[in-house]
Amino acid sequence: MTCLFSARTRSLNRHDRPMKTKIWISTFALLPLLVAVKVADNNKVCTVNTIINGRVTIVCFRQGDSVYLLRDMSRGHGIITLHADQDGNEDFCSHTADWKLDSINRGALDVHYCVSKTFDFYEEVFHRNSLDGFGCAIYSYVNDHAIKDNAIWANRQLRVGINSQTGRTVVSLDIVGHELTHGVIATTCRLAAEGEPGAINESICDIMGKSLEFWVRGKSDEWVIGSEAGLHFRDMADPRRFKHPVNYNDSTYWYNGIETKVAAHVNSTVGSHMFYLLVHGGTSQWAGHIYDVKAISLAEADQIIYFSFVKYLFPRSTYKDWRAACLASASDLFGKNSQQYRSTAVAWSAVGIEEK
Ligand SMILES: [Zn+2]
Repeated sequence: MTCLFSARTRSLNRHDRPMKTKIWISTFALLPLLVAVKVADNNKVCTVNTIINGRVTIVCFRQGDSVYLLRDMSRGHGIITLHADQDGNEDFCSHTADWKLDSINRGALDVHYCVSKTFDFYEEVFHRNSLDGFGCAIYSYVNDHAIKDNAIWANRQLRVGINSQTGRTVVSLDIVGHELTHGVIATTCRLAAEGEPGAINESICDIMGKSLEFWVRGKSDEWVIGSEAGLHFRDMADPRRFKHPVNYNDSTYWYNGIETKVAAHVNSTVGSHMFYLLVHGGTSQWAGHIYDVKAISLAEADQIIYFSFVKYLFPRSTYKDWRAACLASASDLFGKNSQQYRSTAVAWSAVGIEEK
């Protein structure tokens, strides 16, 4: 037993003298506190030069006197960024706090930064503690040579590949935000990965990834997914530019083939274009109809989307279900007579999704 502190109390003893009371606490009860203090002690804010995010601060773990690891134990149960292709020690290590890594490994600093910003985005904007809401650790494996021009979410890990043109890490805020949002969906509505639910799944990930980028950069004028990484997966403002559907009835570009992963990614632009119209506003024409969408703020649109999927969607949801989910969410947040509700309804109609 360890005595934490002693204090005189107002109680009198049988000799009419103030009693001295000791408060006892078990050493075992103190251990977690001591461990937490020790870990906090080892969290070190480092200022580093990244490839695409410029000069930023990241939190690293200081091991001993002079070794730094890409482990941030200040956010939830940790943000841990590791080598994908490494026998033995998977940690990125540095002997200096400014992390002067060579060009291929420097992408790990961008990944570590983007994951920590995704954590902050979900926490500050949606009051969500990490991906599962309970502070789960987030593991990222960087420079997986088996993954070309892409990043994936698999087995509850972010795996980041290599850009085949530049030989560099495939990383940007919207890509990392996209992949980690798969982790949020997996612990909430658990949308399927294929078919129409798969398209909604990919759509929500693009929306959250781009919203994260806008939140960090403070501007919302670039709607191509992957552009900061020198790639262009999808254009939320002009989906047809990369042969993706702009409307649910866009038979030219709606994918009906057997490749389920292709279908999910291609057909996702119906939902992400709806989000673009909702935030950007403007008129949209389809089959002789003109839809005039009055813009609402990015912050309002983000709340509508977030609550639509964590509260109302389910594993086999369709686009019509998602329209209803967004309207239920808009009604909860702003009321049925609000502009936010009306704009959401018009934006969904503009991409060909009407009421059930
Ligand atoms: Zn995805």
